[in-house]
Amino acid sequence: SQIPRIVIVGAGYGGIVTSIRLQKELNYNEADVTLINKHDYHYITTHLHMPAAGTDDPKNARVDISKLIDEFKVDFIKSTVVEINSEEKKVILEDGAVSYDYLVIGLGGEPETFGIPGLKEYALSIRSINSVNYIREHIEYMFAKYKNDESRKDYLTFVVGGSGFTGIEFVGELADRLPKLCNEFNVDPSLVRIINVEAAPTALPGFDPDLVKYAMDVLTEKGVEFMISTPIKECTPDGVILATGEEIKSQTVVWTGGIRGNSLVENAGFEAVRGRVKVDEYLRAPGFDDVFIIGDCSVMFKEDGKPYPPTAQIAMQQGATCAYNLAASIRGDKLKAFKPQIKGTVASLGKGEAIGVVGEKKIKGYTAAIMKKIIDIRYLYIIGGIPLVLKKTRL
Ligand code: FAD
Ligand code: NAD
Repeated sequence: SQIPRIVIVGAGYGGIVTSIRLQKELNYNEADVTLINKHDYHYITTHLHMPAAGTDDPKNARVDISKLIDEFKVDFIKSTVVEINSEEKKVILEDGAVSYDYLVIGLGGEPETFGIPGLKEYALSIRSINSVNYIREHIEYMFAKYKNDESRKDYLTFVVGGSGFTGIEFVGELADRLPKLCNEFNVDPSLVRIINVEAAPTALPGFDPDLVKYAMDVLTEKGVEFMISTPIKECTPDGVILATGEEIKSQTVVWTGGIRGNSLVENAGFEAVRGRVKVDEYLRAPGFDDVFIIGDCSVMFKEDGKPYPPTAQIAMQQGATCAYNLAASIRGDKLKAFKPQIKGTVASLGKGEAIGVVGEKKIKGYTAAIMKKIIDIRYLYIIGGIPLVLKKTRL
């Protein structure tokens, strides 16, 4: 009989861990494995707030895929998926098509705009190396523009929509970076505003209130202005309009108001809520024995009925289980049920500051910042061993 063909689309947290585990798990000639990704590098999404603000080099957030996979065991195709056809068991690429016996979808998320007018057109978002390069360059350009027209204070107003973890981590970096740009461009720092606008009655809704207060105090001290309980209603070429009707004039709106699953998944006909497919306990799409969906394109529910948040932590763990289940499927063995093991959450607030819950323990300040570094290093170690840790870590 023919060797089964496994196709993995997306080389993010979920897809790369699946590929790395699978190349260890499978015996010679047990399956053909193909990994398809838009770029020939993997990006470390959890670092993107830094190169977005310009506090770290984007090259520290990207790793060549050829350095992570064994090309004798996994074929890599650099291409963009345009359609998934689960009936014909085919993945359509911008420049061809690939058939599969087993498919793993790890295409990640997309910004959720909730249909708010203008966000798609005028707001920027932190989602890839390319998008954060754009944000960083745009911010610098605003300083340069201001120096050529000092009547335009809106060039120096930076609006971040949403105070979830992405928004909070980004404003922390921005507050570290902008004073340096003021220096470089000779701009009075008192003219620069960073405004974080949040719809919910608190920043980081659902997170530990003491730690939220700590985070807001640290960020406020660094110059971030919070507008809480203030939904953004519209984004325009001139800034944002709030639910109150008030307008904030700004030439830089970064939308961190939430994410949804990749639209290709919905378009493929899998039943999805906000683009995320409710997978079975083995990580398969409902009704499909041959399609596994992991990471931000999938959703699983806790015992209390609430969804697990889309995190790298879960995507990685799913990658490991997915690789196991692929091998088991091919061998006709029993599959393993996936159970997320939530180790905690740690979020940075800029240099030397962070908050987090690890196990049951609350941490903050320098201790939390060190913990964040350890978590980052652990990931690099898992995917690329010590050499990758040494190459990508600024100690
Ligand atoms: P991704 O890692 O997003 O990867 C998707 C991959 O698919 C990418 O390589 C992309 O290029 C590729 N792709 C997309 N579309 C196509 C296409 N059409 N064709 C081909 N390839 C395609 N989570 C945590 O647990 N801890 C954190 O500290 C944390 N920090 C974060 C900080 C920031 C700034 C952000 C934005 C997110 C953070 N997250 C964190 C969330 C975490 O990054 C995501 O949950 C995680 O990346 C999801 O992994 P994934 O494999 O589903 O997708
Ligand atoms: P999120 O959905 O967690 O947060 C979005 C925020 O935007 C919410 O607070 C929401 O109330 C707010 N919002 C929505 N609509 C709004 C509007 N119209 N006006 C103003 N505010 C509005 O999204 P995220 O922060 O991008 O996080 C995505 C996922 O990534 C989450 O699961 C998160 O846990 C994870 N993440 C984790 C870390 C970390 O662990 N350090 C860092 C970043 C992201």
